[in-house]
Amino acid sequence: MREFPCPSLAERTTLHLGGNAIAELGLEAVGDLDMLPERLRALGGKPFILGEGSNILAQDGQLPLVLVRPHYAQGPDMTEGERGEVFVRVGAGMPMARLLHFCLKNSLSGLEGLVGIPGTAGGCIAMNAGSFGTETAKCLHNIKITSGDNIKTVPAAEAEFSYRTFSIPEEKNNFIILEATFVLTKSERDAICKRMFYNFFEKKSKQPLTCWSAGCIFKNPVPQAPAGRLLEKAGFKGKRRGGVAFSNLHANFLINEGQGSADAALDMIEDARATVLQRFGIKLSLEVKIIPCCP
Ligand SMILES: Cc1cc2nc3c(=O)[nH]c(=O)nc-3n(C[C@H](O)[C@H](O)[C@H](O)COP(=O)(O)OP(=O)(O)OC[C@H]3O[C@@H](n4cnc5c(N)ncnc54)[C@H](O)[C@@H]3O)c2cc1C
Repeated sequence: MREFPCPSLAERTTLHLGGNAIAELGLEAVGDLDMLPERLRALGGKPFILGEGSNILAQDGQLPLVLVRPHYAQGPDMTEGERGEVFVRVGAGMPMARLLHFCLKNSLSGLEGLVGIPGTAGGCIAMNAGSFGTETAKCLHNIKITSGDNIKTVPAAEAEFSYRTFSIPEEKNNFIILEATFVLTKSERDAICKRMFYNFFEKKSKQPLTCWSAGCIFKNPVPQAPAGRLLEKAGFKGKRRGGVAFSNLHANFLINEGQGSADAALDMIEDARATVLQRFGIKLSLEVKIIPCCP
């Protein structure tokens, strides 16, 4: 297990904001799990599982957290099922971009809608990340998890998921995803390639993919009233304050312009939420994870 003292959240998240945690524990081999409870006890603080940090707004200052990072990036391994389906197994730390590249190379269809979403396989499952009508959990066959002493494989049918949520009722959401197997279908490579390119360029034309952000700040309350449109109508598109701004391209993306702070970001988010509630009577809920959680 690799251990770093005082890791910077600003360096570990795509929004590039936040203070320092107590320590970071990098899990590299399954054997590292044996040492984890003891190291967590010794270090104190609350464990937080961190993937690529692309959906995280970390608060400023000294944070009472120990980052646990499942770096397992084995695979992808591919096996064919009896009905022509293809099972693809990856470690939780596998970047989604690498998995999608593997799918394209091997003519495997199912995950094309996720192109352009940063993050690891583990993070995408935990968030049930999605776009273009695809959700990560919909293509899941099973996941290997640990929730303490034991490691077990849970069939996707036992998980519950919906818009940006994923849970395993028996586990009270206290689990680390170690590995995932997706079930995909063989298809025309050219058609997969076209869908990926189309989705990527659509995303790139509508979202500030190269800026420092954590993706969408708020969930869409209903499909007819996306959060971005409500924020735009409430005057937040392009609004800047304290080094952070709601993007001019997509009002639901909060950008760190380089000199922002988590305090400034949280202030803007609260302002936007209160204004949308007051103007439209709609209470926006957060898609981004704030750590440590606000009381
Ligand atoms: C430019 C940009 C565009 C984006 N576009 C989209 C989009 O189109 N659709 C979308 O849904 N999201 C989008 N996102 C948000 C983000 O990329 C996804 O939520 C992604 O799945 C998060 O993966 P991660 O590895 O970065 O997880 P993190 O941000 O590190 O963590 C997210 C959550 O998952 C948990 N987690 C992470 N790994 C594990 C694990 N192994 N076991 C258990 N829990 C774990 C964390 O504890 C945390 O609660 C975008 C983000 C950016 C910056």
